[in-house]
Amino acid sequence: MTNISSTLQETRRFKPDPSFAQQANLGPQLYQALKEEAAQDYEAYWARLARKELVWRKDFQTTLEWEAPFAKWFQEGELNMAEQCLDRHLNTATKHKAAIIWEGEPGEQRTLTYQQLHAKVAQCANALLEMGVKAGDVVTVYLPMIPELAIAVLACARIGAPHSVIFGGFAPNAIRDRVEDADSKFIITADGGWRRGSVIALKDNVDEALATGCPNVQNVLVVKRTNNAVKWTDERDIWWHDTVDSASTKHQAQAFNAEHPLFILYTSGTTGKPKGVVHATAGYALWTKLTTRWVFDLKPEDTYWCTADVGWITGHSYIVYGPLQNGATIMMYEGAPNYPEPDRFWDIVERHQVTVFYTAPTAIRAFMKWGDDHVLKHDLSSLRLLGTVGEPINPEAWIWYHELIGKERCPIVDTWWQTETGGIMISPLPGVTTTVPGSATQPLPGIDAHIVSGEGEDVGPNQGGYLVIKKPWPSMLRNIYGNPERFKNGYYGRFENFYFAGDGARRDQDGNFWIMGRIDDVINVSGHRLGTMEIESALVSHPAVCEAAVVPRPDDLKGQAIVAFVTLEVEADDLESLKAELSDHVVQEIGALARPAEIRFTDSLPKTRSGKIMRRLLSDIASGREAGDTTTLEDASVLNKLRDED
Ligand code: ATP
Ligand code: MG
Repeated sequence: MTNISSTLQETRRFKPDPSFAQQANLGPQLYQALKEEAAQDYEAYWARLARKELVWRKDFQTTLEWEAPFAKWFQEGELNMAEQCLDRHLNTATKHKAAIIWEGEPGEQRTLTYQQLHAKVAQCANALLEMGVKAGDVVTVYLPMIPELAIAVLACARIGAPHSVIFGGFAPNAIRDRVEDADSKFIITADGGWRRGSVIALKDNVDEALATGCPNVQNVLVVKRTNNAVKWTDERDIWWHDTVDSASTKHQAQAFNAEHPLFILYTSGTTGKPKGVVHATAGYALWTKLTTRWVFDLKPEDTYWCTADVGWITGHSYIVYGPLQNGATIMMYEGAPNYPEPDRFWDIVERHQVTVFYTAPTAIRAFMKWGDDHVLKHDLSSLRLLGTVGEPINPEAWIWYHELIGKERCPIVDTWWQTETGGIMISPLPGVTTTVPGSATQPLPGIDAHIVSGEGEDVGPNQGGYLVIKKPWPSMLRNIYGNPERFKNGYYGRFENFYFAGDGARRDQDGNFWIMGRIDDVINVSGHRLGTMEIESALVSHPAVCEAAVVPRPDDLKGQAIVAFVTLEVEADDLESLKAELSDHVVQEIGALARPAEIRFTDSLPKTRSGKIMRRLLSDIASGREAGDTTTLEDASVLNKLRDED
């Protein structure tokens, strides 16, 4: 098969500021040394780091046992994940430092020091044990972004009960599917959570899920957050404030095996039916700790804010486990970015003096659309480092982030990784890497990322192909819950010994990685395979365009034709001439091959609840097909509207 054609050339380069590099946790020398160490003896590299970074109750002998796709890391070792995050800080100066600074959407604030968080987690662990939760039992957590969410997952980790966090925006049928798939007997939820000024009735959603299935659920533990009326099933439902708050603050954490499952997380489902990704304890602990320190350069005095929800892997790894292991101060916010006004994030950054800020391209594009004034009225001088994750960031959005938020001063880390990888895999290191807008740049030390052809051979510079990880790494997924066949076929099916999770990419002459989009979304025009990212970025680089999604439609002549769905920054008077202009703009940026056969303007694009564009559904619309699985769609009305416009 032919490789994916690469079309976009981005020439802007940003060197690390020498003063930043000088103070960086990972500077050029250490970076070189780590890369060489990993290249020389891969297993010794990981063994050394694991012994240095983690608090082991029992040491391991075997660093890695690998029979693709099944890996075991540090297998004889024993440790406790909550201890890594909390107990280890209690005899240091971190004890009385803020672990979580929380702000509710209505404006209330709470701060928990490490010591206080430790006490709460111990109470929750004791309450869960009292309910009958045993090590190995899957506990479903369906909570708003309140401190209890972090407390609940840490309490589960403390007693060895794998958590399965379900994002609070999911509906009853999604809860039911996930609870049943994981055979979870315990659920932790809240009466409600605040979102854009309204209460999301979480307990009602759980009730509805349980009314239609999940016969094995024994208890539902309920946090009182919004005070809305809830229905109560006496023998099943338990108030958090009745049990957790009165439980003992003493809990002796037991050590668990390195490979003990830490959590299950169902992926967002951009490409199809959600799957329960299983992560193990020690390898995940190691890599989230290291990547947080390296990529975000966290220092004791930082206030770090990752705007993701703990319902996604980003929240697991870079709100809870990575930052807490590093003793960082975490900002946590419950609500919407545009409530009460579109400047809420910048208001929080200013008031709390946030120093490190990590968000998603979808949010950045929304801020661009809402207008610069909301940003400019705030003092953002506390910021020193910015990050992005979730989708390829179009170079124009990168530049906006760099100029408007980072004031051309803050390095940007564009981090490529997945639910399945557990932690960041490809990313700039802020004190080392010359950044290029739109590129996630280079794999981190120890990560063996390559671009290969369909036959599994490495391809040359600027040739698009499959992004694979050749060697296993500690935080890789261990399984798809209850479905080892799906695990094997899904990730080690296309290439027997290399991990492949679906993205197309190229590497430029400097070795930088460019994610070109999902392989499933590749468009084949007259035998040329085009990634979605580059055409979309060409569209977004036009001043009138805010967001763009390109998808294929069957075409008799060319095989497939390109259809572009576009949202605009401003109202346009003459839409027909703007279409022609955008078409010409794409041709000018990329070439005649990429000329869209059709451009459609729309108010919004269909997205997953984690904010990713669902091209699969757009392609269904463009091709006049019935839309496929829509359970993870954020807002169904967007799809209906697009269909009506058809
Ligand atoms: P599903 O696998 O169920 O379809 P998903 O892939 O959207 O869902 P995640 O694991 O949250 O679920 O997302 C990982 C994917 O997000 C990557 O495979 C990639 O396509 C995209 N992605 C994440 N970060 C980046 C980035 N920095 N640059 C480009 N793409 C990114
Ligand atoms: Mg995926």
